[in-house]
Amino acid sequence: MTVPDHPEVVAWIALGANLGDAQASVLAAIQAIARLPSTRLIAASSTYRTAPFEATGPDFVNAVVAVSTRLNALALLQHLQQLENGAGRRRPHRNAPRTLDLDILLYGDASIASPTLQVPHPRLWERAFVLVPLAEIAPDKVSRAQLGAVASQGIERLT
Ligand code: ATP
Ligand code: CA
Ligand code: CA
Repeated sequence: MTVPDHPEVVAWIALGANLGDAQASVLAAIQAIARLPSTRLIAASSTYRTAPFEATGPDFVNAVVAVSTRLNALALLQHLQQLENGAGRRRPHRNAPRTLDLDILLYGDASIASPTLQVPHPRLWERAFVLVPLAEIAPDKVSRAQLGAVASQGIERLT
């Protein structure tokens, strides 16, 4: 598939699901990410249950992982989208309930602003369901003030 074309970079990926067995989907996706080519899993957060935020449907299960990868950012995105599709992801409308959502939060210290990929993820700092699991595995990346700003959003640690 994609030929490794990049020095090793640490990337941070957010996982979310709120259709089907969301917990199982997130845990399976972590394992699938760990098996991506030229990629190894460095850290995985706990899973968290969160109420839909800017979204509809059942509660979400969320997590964040860190990988070290030689895939470039676009190739990583394409692999993550394949995993989403393999989990039955449909996009009937924006913020629709989903079997699996995989977002690149950070890709090393890269800033990317292309039509298909924006990194850092532009809504990272607005979302407790991203910041809380990210802070669990990367406390240096999230300040107390940033966590405080999303403290009103409900989030419950599962595992
Ligand atoms: P949000 O981006 O607000 O979390 P979403 O995850 O529900 O919304 P999707 O329908 O999953 O949105 O993705 C829409 C498009 O976003 C994707 O096709 C992809 O090209 C683009 N995209 C831009 N930046 C990123 C990123 N950092 N990670 C994943 N997808 C991204
Ligand atoms: Ca998302
Ligand atoms: Ca997404």
